Amino acid sequence: MADMTCDFLVIGGGPGGYVAAIRAGQLGLKTVLIEKDVVGGTCLNFGCIPSKALIHAAEKFDAAVSFAGDNALGIQSTAPSIDYAKTVGWKDGVVDTLTGGVRGLLKRAKVEVVNGIAQFIDGKAVQVDTGARITAKTIVIATGSTPVDLPSLPFGGDVLSSTEALALTHVPPSLAVVGGGYIGLEIGTAFAKLGARVTVVEAGPSLLPQYDAELVGPVGKRLRALGVTIHLSARATGHENGRLRIKTPDGMAQIDADKVLVAVGRKPYTGGLGLDRLALPTDGGFITANDRCETPMRGVFAIGDVSPGPMLAHRAMAEGEMVAEIAAGHARVWDKQAMPATCFTDPEIVTVGLSPQDAKARFGETKIGRFPFIANGRALATEGTEGMVRVVARGQDNRIVGIQAVGQGISELSSAFSIALDMGARLEDLAAIVQSHPTRSEGFAEAALQALGRAIHI
Ligand code: FAD
Ligand code: NAD
Repeated sequence: MADMTCDFLVIGGGPGGYVAAIRAGQLGLKTVLIEKDVVGGTCLNFGCIPSKALIHAAEKFDAAVSFAGDNALGIQSTAPSIDYAKTVGWKDGVVDTLTGGVRGLLKRAKVEVVNGIAQFIDGKAVQVDTGARITAKTIVIATGSTPVDLPSLPFGGDVLSSTEALALTHVPPSLAVVGGGYIGLEIGTAFAKLGARVTVVEAGPSLLPQYDAELVGPVGKRLRALGVTIHLSARATGHENGRLRIKTPDGMAQIDADKVLVAVGRKPYTGGLGLDRLALPTDGGFITANDRCETPMRGVFAIGDVSPGPMLAHRAMAEGEMVAEIAAGHARVWDKQAMPATCFTDPEIVTVGLSPQDAKARFGETKIGRFPFIANGRALATEGTEGMVRVVARGQDNRIVGIQAVGQGISELSSAFSIALDMGARLEDLAAIVQSHPTRSEGFAEAALQALGRAIHI
């Protein structure tokens, strides 16, 4: 491939990089995107999308299994079986559809996609291993992240990262999950529903240690109901012959583990990028940048998982859009008030803004309102009464500063939560909005009413 010059060069085609490239192309910048693997990055190929497809298939199978036994709905069915190879084929088809879509969007935005590994020559040029040298006015580093490994459990063989776990072609009889965070619980729950005997080994004193007990409680309860064994304050020390050795507060133990999923976090990925040639500041391997994602090197930006912040696809996408607009000369700043996070466990957890504790530390007086789904008609009518929605407001003016919820299908309410926070809603605003009946959204408004001391349905 011949050498090239462009306005806007993106390294990495994940949600951060491809969104930056599409937006730059839309704005008329001559744009090149370099991707070493597959466009769509971790999220579309090995993360968000295949995991959610697997979770969906597992939910369907679990429901079918429940119909073969005694169930409240009176539905009678014979015990189902699963052709897991077909399930995997369907999941891969979903991924292919989306990555094909992204390729089409890049083409429509006139982005030139180069396949290869980019390495910096200097702050204005990169060398691609497949031959081309590309010079650009703006370079965006969007190289993402990779899984953290444990010295006692190096990846390989039966010790899997999320990527290999999502690519399994059969359901393992037993699966040990090391790390009870986002990935461990999302994928662990799916395999438990698909029939694997799942054990979770979490180093912290609770599952999902970033969330409080009120949010995590229903998730732990459901995992136990699915037959998942949970070891807290525990560590894995090795794996041999289908057994995982663990150290728990009660001593050493061994558990069945045909496969081991290690999901103890992710780390920024800058391998082969030649960052030493730029001398960019880093913190724990993350490339640090200001709130416009600008590094100290003029024209070089860092976005998404490779830079400090929540490792979430929507954060990467929002930053990608912003840096393209900055490069096109728009007066852009990071003006987001809300960064939702959704954990696709069963039930799901959504958080946006400040927790009750953080709000109290920041503002002193706060008002907290809750609505339990046990009192919600839709939740009762859909067998999803576990969980609640909680609204956190500043005491001085009732401005909503945080919303948390745990419940069946609650991920789809994250938009309402973000809008409330981003638009600066107060408890009175939320309480005054008419909510469709019967929906879980009514619980959201009722939580505001409760904070105002005038709840109707509790
Ligand atoms: P990535 O998506 O990691 O993309 C980086 C790209 O850069 C890769 O394609 C890589 O091949 C390429 N690259 C790296 N170095 C070079 C180089 N030198 N030259 C060329 N190309 C290079 N987030 C959510 O918001 N919701 C979810 O439900 C969710 N689920 C997840 C489930 C799993 C199992 C995992 C692992 C992650 C999940 N995430 C989820 C996190 C999400 O995937 C990441 O936050 C997101 O992908 C980050 O986007 P990015 O563009 O920064 O990086
Ligand atoms: P995580 O930080 O969510 O969870 C890691 C867990 O491993 C923590 O609970 C931690 O206490 C535990 N841990 C750490 N060391 C351990 C050890 N030696 N033994 C046992 N447990 C140990 O990380 P993750 O689940 O690997 O996910 C990585 C990132 O990917 C997440 O932080 C998130 O940003 C992103 N992600 C997001 C979603 C989503 O948005 N739904 C889904 C999956 C992943």
